[in-house]
Formats: sequence, structure tokens, C-alpha cells
Amino acid sequence: MEVYNDQYIGGRWRPSVGDGVITVINPATEDSLAVVPAGSAADIDSAATAARAAQRTWGATDPGTRLIHLKAIHEGLVARRHEIADTMTAELGVPIGFSTEIQTGLPIAVADSYVEILADYEFTEKVGNSTVYHEPAGVVGAITPWNYPLHQIVAKVVPALAAGCTVVLKPAENTPLVARLFARIVHEAALPAGVFNLVTGLGSEAGTALAGHPQVELLSFTGSTAVGRSIAELAGRDIKRVALELGGKSANVVLPGADLATAVTVNMAYIFSNSGQSCNAWSRLLVHQDQYEEAVTLAAEAASTYVPGDPTDPETLIGPVVSARRRDRVRGYIQLGLDAGARLVTGGVEAPANCERGFYVRPTVLADVTPDMTVAQEEIFGPVLCVLAYRDPEHALALANGTAYGLAGGVWAADEQSAIAFARRMDTGQVHINGGRFNPQAPFGGYKNSGVGRELGRQGLEEFLRTKSLQF
Ligand code: NAD
Repeated sequence: MEVYNDQYIGGRWRPSVGDGVITVINPATEDSLAVVPAGSAADIDSAATAARAAQRTWGATDPGTRLIHLKAIHEGLVARRHEIADTMTAELGVPIGFSTEIQTGLPIAVADSYVEILADYEFTEKVGNSTVYHEPAGVVGAITPWNYPLHQIVAKVVPALAAGCTVVLKPAENTPLVARLFARIVHEAALPAGVFNLVTGLGSEAGTALAGHPQVELLSFTGSTAVGRSIAELAGRDIKRVALELGGKSANVVLPGADLATAVTVNMAYIFSNSGQSCNAWSRLLVHQDQYEEAVTLAAEAASTYVPGDPTDPETLIGPVVSARRRDRVRGYIQLGLDAGARLVTGGVEAPANCERGFYVRPTVLADVTPDMTVAQEEIFGPVLCVLAYRDPEHALALANGTAYGLAGGVWAADEQSAIAFARRMDTGQVHINGGRFNPQAPFGGYKNSGVGRELGRQGLEEFLRTKSLQF
């Protein structure tokens, strides 16, 4: 087991201040993988001070210089992609196929997209007798979750660096190893000291210290709505900017006349891959009442291909959830659904067969779910699909929009125009039309309690800019 006691601050690895530690657990085997420091407020202070000291010089570099470093980060990610995928399979329990293709492939694509965007981004524009400058927002505090641990880091750090900001990153406590790997890649990309800093630690200590640090000018947070709210309150007191990517309870709506079998099969990938731990998971399948039983049968059939197993096996489609706490929470939601009258189509609260060790949950489909049930309203963040029936498209829209969240969703219809018309009325930030692919250059973010701000693409860069106008 590796034991680390250092943080990446001011361009080098330095001993962490304080003696708190985090033991990283392999969720598939429950073995201890490594120990990393649980950074203190003093570590955050050193990192924020280093970021502040580097900010003006980095912010004044020309975009061409920053582009060289961005390209080097992208190349580093590509060069270490197998090590990255293996690391995430070990600390997150994500199957190696998904880890390689999505958990590693997506951040590589995002880093590459910012090389392209930065290459022709206009940081100055003329408006009448004014010149408008898009300047870096300053020192960024980035707080990230464990579910797409590298993607969330890259989606914040790379555009922030492209904008000319300096960064202090506090990654999730469950997945600090891929964050350390990222810091090594940034170091190899020869960024000036202090431009990027990493402090591993607990949310309650290092996270709150970063959110409340006076040197930090913008907080970019991805995680739960509850923590996002507390960060926004803290930031509000100091008039800091915040970008919040929060939870979801996304609906996949199958309109009459759509290809039901494809819509249900694709839904399964959206809810079971990554063990349902995706903020944009389609956790609610909405089908017309006349097709309801057919949809439930199709869902049961499709679910049977997701057999929980060893995430290092390339054949495995679903691994464990990230922790014992999360496993118990997800099983608790399944029980809550059953107690409220939902029908268990497949899955359940018991451990899956042949998975005595590890934090496994049975891929579960709940039918006869009604909108008033907790399982229809709250984010379960596990492999649990709720199937709801609607009477007509207006009822489907009311159900789709009838939660506190609005992050993602799907619409399937016989023709694209009706699907688009429906999607435009959904209170949500992203919708996939008839199975349209995820686009790493399209802005991503929430409506309602799913957050404020956008990541990815040009909007993702603009989150890290502020505007100055000079009049002539
Ligand atoms: P979480 O909110 O518990 O933790 C996220 C991060 O915040 C971690 O780094 C944690 O250490 C830190 N943190 C915790 N308490 C803090 C505090 N008081 N102050 C400052 N930082 C604190 O969330 P989680 O359980 O790690 O992640 C799951 C949640 O993230 C889900 O709700 C999911 O939907 C959401 N999520 C959203 C998106 C998106 O883009 N919208 C993406 C991924 C995950």
C-alpha cells in the first residue's frame, strides 16, 4: 500500500501540514489501496497564497503561451491513459472498459477541445467606441466529486488555465489518486509554479477552508445540491462568483410512436453504467400507459445483461458503488420504494450473487412508481431505474418537469421535430434526442436545483473570464 504525505503546492510536492489522513479503499475488494493526507486549512492557505502569487503573471501571458501548456497537458493525459484508467478502476470500482473509454477518454477529449477553443478565442472585441477585454477571473477554487473524478477535474482546471486563472483543486476524498496523477501531468507540462495546486482532504475541513478563503475569487463546485447550497451561501457573503454543477433526477420520455425497444435499451446504459453514479443518469423512464407493461418487460430483459462483477474484467458492465455508505444509501432507497408500493421488476436490496465482498448493489428496476414517491423525486445515485406511466404528452411533460432538478434528459419520438418541440419545453439543461450522442463541446449544466453556470465548450471557458470595457 502506497503512503503519501505530500500536497502539490507552488510547483512542488511538499509535506502536508497536520497529521490527518485519508485511507483510499478499493470498492470491489474493500482492500486499502493507499493513504493520502487529509489537508488542513493551513495547506489550503499555502496553496491559495501560491495561486495568488502566480496569478498576475499567468493572467498576463499571451494565449499562445498558455496553449503550449494546454497541449502538453493533453499529451500527458494521452501518454498516461492506461495508468489513469487503472487508477480509477481501483479507487472508484468502475469497470475497466468504461474507465478507459469514458472516464479517461472523455477528459482527453475535453482537454483537446480547449486546445482548439483557445487557439482562436478572441479575448478582446470592439463595441462602438469601446474595447471590451475578457480577462481572467482570478484565483479559482475547484471542488470536485468522485463519480467522474478526472473528467470533473479537467472540465474545471483546463478551461480555468486557458482563461489565465490560477487554481487550487480539492478533489473528492474517495478518489484522490487520479487527482495526484493529474497533478503529475500538470507538473510535467511545465506550468509556472503556483499556477496549479492540489490539496487532498475532507470536504468538512479542506473544502470549507477553500470555499471561504479570502484569496479565492471564483468557486467552481461539482457535487451534491446540499453542499452546493452551503458553498453558495458562503460565497455570497464575500461576493465571490460561483459555478455549481449539482444533482439530477433526469427523465427519459418515450413519446407514442417512438422506437420503444431502443429507447429502453439505451436508458439502461444511462442508468446502469458507472453503477448509476452519474449526475445526468436517466433515473426516470416515462412511457405511455398503453405501452407500460411492454416497456417494463423490455427493461427487465435489458437489465439482465448487467451482471455485477469484477471491474478489472473487460467483460464486466457494472461494478460496485463507491463506498459502503453509498451502498447502504442506495439499498435504503430501494426499500423505501418498495414500502411505498413500487413493484420490484428486477434487482432488490440483497447483495448480488457472487459479490460477498465489495460495495455491490443489484441493478434494480422499480415499476408502478408514482410521482409523489420519494424514489421519484430524490436523486438515488445508484443503479435504480424508476418506470412511470403517463396518460398523454402534457402529463409526460408535467412529470418530467415535476422534480426540484433539471440537469439532463432524453426524448424519443417518431419524428425529430416533435421530439425537439417537447425537449424545448423541458426545464433541463441538456436533452438527448432519439439517442443523440453526448457532445463534450456542448455546454453542460443545470436548471433549477441542478446548478448555475455551464461547463464544457466556449461557455465553459467563459465561466472563468470577467469583462472590462475601455471607452475611447
Ligand atoms: P458531495 O457534495 O458530498 O462532495 C463533492 C465535493 O465537495 C467533495 O470534494 C467533497 O469533499 C466536497 N465537500 C463536501 N462537503 C463540503 C463542504 N461543506 N464545503 C466544501 N466542500 C465540501 O458530493 P458527492 O457525494 O461527492 O458527489 C455526488 C453528487 O455530485 C451527486 O449529487 C451528483 O449528482 C453530483 N454531481 C453533479 C455533476 C454535475 O455536473 N452536475 C457531476 C457529478 C456529480
